[in-house]
Amino acid sequence: MPGDAKWSAISKSPLTNTYGESAGTAGFGINLKRAGYDALVIQGKAEKLSYIYINNDEVEIKEAQFLRNKDSLETFQILKRGLNNPKVSIAAIGPAGEKLVRFACIVIDEHSFAGRCGIGAVLGSKNIKAIAVYGNKRPSVSSPDKVEKLAREQRKKIRNFASENGFTEHGTPAAVLSAAQTANLPVQYWREDSWDKAEKISAPNYTRVLKVKPRACLYCPVACHRQIEIDHPKKYALKGAGPQYESLSFLGSNCLFSSAPVIKLTSSAFFSVFGEKLLTIFDNILSKRLPSTELQFVDNRNERLNNIINLAFNFPSFRDICYKSECGGYFVLSLLVWFSCSY
Ligand code: SF4
Repeated sequence: MPGDAKWSAISKSPLTNTYGESAGTAGFGINLKRAGYDALVIQGKAEKLSYIYINNDEVEIKEAQFLRNKDSLETFQILKRGLNNPKVSIAAIGPAGEKLVRFACIVIDEHSFAGRCGIGAVLGSKNIKAIAVYGNKRPSVSSPDKVEKLAREQRKKIRNFASENGFTEHGTPAAVLSAAQTANLPVQYWREDSWDKAEKISAPNYTRVLKVKPRACLYCPVACHRQIEIDHPKKYALKGAGPQYESLSFLGSNCLFSSAPVIKLTSSAFFSVFGEKLLTIFDNILSKRLPSTELQFVDNRNERLNNIINLAFNFPSFRDICYKSECGGYFVLSLLVWFSCSY
């Protein structure tokens, strides 16, 4: 059925110490179900860093020392190549999860995030770097024909709705402008209720500048995720998952950065060094540090953000320090915040 891509990772949250639940999408849940499982329960802890590979009825726990300190995107690519199965879905943690950073997330198939409650640190605490799953069985239902008919109707209805409303073409970035028009966009951490540059980071400008193509979770007719491409400047050229409303608003309007490519590059740099959730923390710290009198510096901000990208991409020691411990991550984060807030 359309919408089936949604699944949840559930645990006691290391962040709040209470019930924690974080939803992801991509192809993980559907593959798990097709492998024959409704839920996967992980008890105890592996002795060494490991990954779980579920291939229909076969379940293996394999050694993963070779993935230590790899970010979640590298982990995805290495495992996918190694497993030699283009249809496998992979949920992975980066160095933040390994180091038990309490807001680490799980990244699924490079473009979906179970980002709440520090669920990535829970996997890290169990020494599980990734879970790869592939299933090709059809779940049994009591009236297959009725389910098939219902799925066809719903798929058509949802696809038409998403396409008529521009949701497939523009995805969640379209929400930046509509949020701005209704004074519902975080601008300088809600100090202001409007921002005249919202249009620059919102669709359709975003769609054009980042050469966006829609990207779908498995069997989803909406395809709200974004596949983007940056080809200039050449040394930062990249293709991959594009920033969505959250990154655009918290790293864009919240911090008054108005360049969609620069926001994408910065979020990639932070993603690579810290993991996605630290980006949010950084956004919030940075925007709180900016008093409204600094509005006059708006035009310098994209340049300053460019400098941060340079630092994060070109100074390998940042990665090294960050990967050594949770404290290392906070230390580097503080340096970056100081750097980006100083004039
Ligand atoms: S593409 Fe968007 S709407 Fe479709 S399942 Fe993924 S997150 Fe949900």
